[in-house]
Amino acid sequence: VSDTVDNRRRPWYEADPERVAFELKQFEDSCLPVAHRLGRSDGSNGTRFVIQTSLPFKGKELPIDVVYPFDFPDEAPTVYGPGGLLDRHQARGGNFCLLEDPDGDWSPGWSGAQLVHIKLRALLEDTEAGREVIAAGEADMPEPVTAHMAYKPETVVLVPSPMWAEPLAESHGDIELVDGYYDGQLVLTAAEGIGRADVALIERMTVSRSDRHRGVWVALPDPVSTLGADLLASGIEQEPALLHRLKRQLTSNRKRRFAEGWVAFTFFEEGPRRGQHRRAWVFARVRLDRNGDSSVEHLARTNALTASERARRLPELHGLGQVGALVVGAGSLGSPVVFELAKAGIGQVDVVDNDFLDANNVVRHVLGTQWAGTSKARSVAAEARARNPFGQVVGHHFRVGGDQDDSDNLDRLIDQASVVIDTTGSQTVGRILDRRCREAGRRLVIAGLTAGSYGAEVLVLRPSGPCFLCFVFAQEDGVIPSPATGPRSAVTPVNCSHPAFAGAGFDATEAGALVSRTAIQATYASTYPALDFEWAIMNFRSAPRWQSGSLGRRADCPRCGTS
Ligand SMILES: [Zn+2]
Repeated sequence: VSDTVDNRRRPWYEADPERVAFELKQFEDSCLPVAHRLGRSDGSNGTRFVIQTSLPFKGKELPIDVVYPFDFPDEAPTVYGPGGLLDRHQARGGNFCLLEDPDGDWSPGWSGAQLVHIKLRALLEDTEAGREVIAAGEADMPEPVTAHMAYKPETVVLVPSPMWAEPLAESHGDIELVDGYYDGQLVLTAAEGIGRADVALIERMTVSRSDRHRGVWVALPDPVSTLGADLLASGIEQEPALLHRLKRQLTSNRKRRFAEGWVAFTFFEEGPRRGQHRRAWVFARVRLDRNGDSSVEHLARTNALTASERARRLPELHGLGQVGALVVGAGSLGSPVVFELAKAGIGQVDVVDNDFLDANNVVRHVLGTQWAGTSKARSVAAEARARNPFGQVVGHHFRVGGDQDDSDNLDRLIDQASVVIDTTGSQTVGRILDRRCREAGRRLVIAGLTAGSYGAEVLVLRPSGPCFLCFVFAQEDGVIPSPATGPRSAVTPVNCSHPAFAGAGFDATEAGALVSRTAIQATYASTYPALDFEWAIMNFRSAPRWQSGSLGRRADCPRCGTS
């Protein structure tokens, strides 16, 4: 292949001239003026196909650009008007929000002309008729101004409680920030007049000996514009001494040409739903030079670091913060379960395992090779804590069925758990946990993968119901089916006391998802749909894919039977 041959994909307007003709004709048929060019007249969107047209608005003819994306018509065109025309449904760049959900509401059968003739015309007519008419036609989506600000990529300030309090007792003060896990990530630790974040939370979100930064915050009256410079001017208007710290730095060091620091602005904006208002934070890196000129170097994105903001994304799982879970086994099946339980918001997750991570185990494990050689229980717990910085995840390195101390530890952990999950795949561990959970009155979920990860099974045992042996006997008799199992060669004999299973990570992950869902249902602590089985069998590569049912007491069970 000669390197003079251009193998690159051609833009739609070169590949599909018929579609170009159709687009142009649609404008003519709608009696809209039509001219086309590559790029907009202001020089932006240089290689894109642009149709220029116009619409009447408040007695004048409004210039409109329809900008067609490279992948048109799979992707919708963007329609631009003069910037700042509308205070809603128009972004800072001048593009209109014509489709509530551009990904779902656009169809490749539509034309750019239809967007202008139907959608934009309706929006402009509603605007002429007044705010209420626009509001009536809106989806229940807020338009927070912070969503449209231009942030420096890969910068974020994590803002914990109590900084989201409303109203605030003060209007300005000092702030303290610490570096997070990567360059560009900061955590707001304190704001004078508002309060200080939880120390344990900050420790989780930062590396030890993180650098600390001082800055200032100021509350702005709403509404605010979306421009950084306007934020700063408005902040100085509220608090004329806002940049005094930077000024002092210049006074104390006469060689410095400028001083830089963080200024945080807080104000109210629309959200979380349309018509509601809540506090917003924006962080600006501000520069002050010797002749007193100040400017915003860049804005950093803000993320709320609060349990309540997290919980808003899991409305069905409220209540799990008060629940404890004990996961025995932190291997290929147990490790994704620990992660999912932490993500779901379980308040306390304890993890028990006495194994160390093998570097090659990462083909199925949630941990990466950087954890090779470490205690699986402790390392999985450490990583899981980052999945929910508001919960506790604790790793315990010991063996179930060990000595007296291990046994005492196990009883203590079972006592403080609402549900116990056995992912070891060991019948011995299953029997021990079944007996202990029964005595402690705890529900037990026993789960395992078969050789080669061909299938998986999950069993839920109630303290007063049939026992693990009842299940084992029912499976041996064929009353309850067994999942498909791989050939013995699917077990790699590292040594007889330490078999390493073969099998795909995605199969372990799928089983882990089922176990996690089952464990959360077995807590009965959320509004997530209740459990509707006591055992479930999954086959990943043969039918039936799924079987489930209830478990009966066995007369021949040495633990439950009467005979
Ligand atoms: Zn039994």
